[in-house]
Amino acid sequence: MSLRKTIAVVASAAAMSVGLIGTAEAAPRTLYYNSAGAAEFVASVDAGANVWNTQLPNTVKLVKRNSGSVNITIVADNGWPRAQTTSLGNGRVWMGRQAVTEGHDKVRIAAHELGHILGLPDRRTGLCTDLMSGASAGTSCKNANPNAAEKAQVVRNFGGSATVQATTFEDAA
Ligand SMILES: [Zn+2]
Repeated sequence: MSLRKTIAVVASAAAMSVGLIGTAEAAPRTLYYNSAGAAEFVASVDAGANVWNTQLPNTVKLVKRNSGSVNITIVADNGWPRAQTTSLGNGRVWMGRQAVTEGHDKVRIAAHELGHILGLPDRRTGLCTDLMSGASAGTSCKNANPNAAEKAQVVRNFGGSATVQATTFEDAA
């Protein structure tokens, strides 16, 4: 093969692989959630899901589907908010009323619990800029957005490097 042909073949292969990688990054993982049991928290759950869809549009897409098979089931109860993961992107969320009664922000709670489903652990730093600091940031904290490090971890999780074990995260203050 002539040098010119070799260069053309290499360039073509490189262009193809770039195209494939670009396609993979542009396609978010669709995760269906059922919030039919979320009672007065339905709108907050939708807003919390929208946080992730807006923050990481190339990584996850949470879509409400109140029938059939879903990845995430979200219900309301009288306890503390908590999340149970079965695997990355799959599990159950309880929108516990006790936290709301004590003054914690409903959308922040929803986004935080969905963060667990997306493979984030609790980090009780007390900082409102951290989504996964949860109730440790106090009731004045209304921030429902993940910080840059939290977003980067979710991207890594869905990029295939994460091992998410079945875990229940209890979010009592
Ligand atoms: Zn938590």
